Amino acid sequence: MTKHIIEVQHLKKHFGKNEVLKDISFTVKPSEKVVIIGPSGSGKSTLLRCLNRLEDDYDGRVIFYDQNICQAKTTDLRLIRQRMGMVFQQFNLFPNKTVLENITFATIKLKVMTADQATQKAHELLKQVGLDDKAAAYPQSLSGGQQQRVAIARSLAMNPKVLLFDEPTSALDPEMVGDVLGVMQRLATNGMTMIIVTHEMMFAQKVADKVLFMDKGVVADEGTADYIFNQTSNPRTKEFLSKVM
Ligand code: ADP
Ligand code: MG
Repeated sequence: MTKHIIEVQHLKKHFGKNEVLKDISFTVKPSEKVVIIGPSGSGKSTLLRCLNRLEDDYDGRVIFYDQNICQAKTTDLRLIRQRMGMVFQQFNLFPNKTVLENITFATIKLKVMTADQATQKAHELLKQVGLDDKAAAYPQSLSGGQQQRVAIARSLAMNPKVLLFDEPTSALDPEMVGDVLGVMQRLATNGMTMIIVTHEMMFAQKVADKVLFMDKGVVADEGTADYIFNQTSNPRTKEFLSKVM
């Protein structure tokens, strides 16, 4: 049996009286693509944020390479987030840094690489996302789709073991979505382990090894893309899909 990279065991999270995650369990294997779908407010973002401890104070366990993330000390958190990159809906680039600096900043600061190595790697990554001509540009001069591709390159600069995506194309104009999904598709094909929250159902069907359907804080349905999109008899899954497809 292949060893799991991530094991989520009985994860529970509440904000005050609002129980947002109610006993979530799943596993992620090396190179696996796990796609999480579900209605707004079902807890998808909170789940991703618990995985790399952007959210604290939850019950249950998240095991990442045999380490219990829930008990990781502040000093370990940096390493966890290096190994588990996250791409957000709103890109979160540094506005006062160039594209190149956005990509090299953390790797140099955290001494993952020398400045020369980081710069060389950044150019390689920019080529990979089709933006090497934008190295000297500032984020606000780029389209949303270009900014998101820079954000993906920035995550990749850390050599992460896993990438988390939280609706990476939801803030984009429709004509930008394809380029970002294309970059993600190539990462998937190249073997990156990915957990992706998305409303792009065609993309989900193409890349997912496993789909989790979340509803009201639980994984209400789970299976291969073929099972979720073509075979499930779960009425909640079917109702959701009928609205978004
Ligand atoms: P999704 O990403 O599926 O839309 P979220 O994880 O963002 O869902 O939110 C799930 C629930 O948790 C919602 O009811 C939301 O209002 C609540 N929630 C999320 N973050 C916070 C927070 N920081 N404080 C209080 N409630 C929150
Ligand atoms: Mg969300």
